[in-house]
Amino acid sequence: MLQRYRGFLVDIDGVLVRGGQVLPGAVEALADLRTRGPVLLLTNNSTKSRVGTAERLRRAGIPVEPIEVLPSSHVAARFLRTQFGGVRFWYIGEEGIPEEMKAAGHVLVPPEEADWIVVGMDRELTYAKLRQALRALLRGARLLATNEDPTFPTPDGLVPGAGAVVGALRGMGFPPEVVVGKPSPIAFQVALEVLGLAGKEVLMIGDRLDTDVAGAQALGLDTALVLSGVTQKADLEKARVRPTYVAADLAALVQGALIPG
Ligand SMILES: [Mg+2]
Repeated sequence: MLQRYRGFLVDIDGVLVRGGQVLPGAVEALADLRTRGPVLLLTNNSTKSRVGTAERLRRAGIPVEPIEVLPSSHVAARFLRTQFGGVRFWYIGEEGIPEEMKAAGHVLVPPEEADWIVVGMDRELTYAKLRQALRALLRGARLLATNEDPTFPTPDGLVPGAGAVVGALRGMGFPPEVVVGKPSPIAFQVALEVLGLAGKEVLMIGDRLDTDVAGAQALGLDTALVLSGVTQKADLEKARVRPTYVAADLAALVQGALIPG
């Protein structure tokens, strides 16, 4: 069935890696996909830029080029560029956000001068950062969240994700005006633009029903759910979202070993 598609969007955590380890057969399966069409690794993780994400994957043992990855840090920078031209921004997050924002021509300024506050997962979140963000937001700065993932998987278990930062701002009365990460249509629109393909021509492969599958379906993409990440077979039976295909993992999907739904 993979021959139906001209390109592939592949989630990273739970599909290629889990808990810092490369999943069995993932590297070979990714190489197989590349022979069928362009592959773009679409991740909500905004802590790294495209270059940083590719480096992290290469270190883990998955050979990829920066051009093959699309982290939400880049989606945010590209979305703002397309919609508003260059903006003056401040951020709460890790290096992926300023790297991608500056590369897209946006200018990092002190919070009191920012037109946009861009936020993502930040393992050094402090009260002082929240206070600065609040001052900027009270002055009328607009808020963009790279994603709202509640938690983030690490080898030591789940840690607070971008949702913890967004939640703190929401708790002060400032929900994000824009969220660009999955399941936002913005993530998939930018991904299709980068691939140069239409939704019908592309298969989204992910491990989460609420982000990967639901978000892609909303834009008319077919979806493949792999059970190597957060979703178990039992969750699928209870869920209302129905992926086009289900497989144990990426290797099984590429071999055509589907689980009947
Ligand atoms: Mg995932």
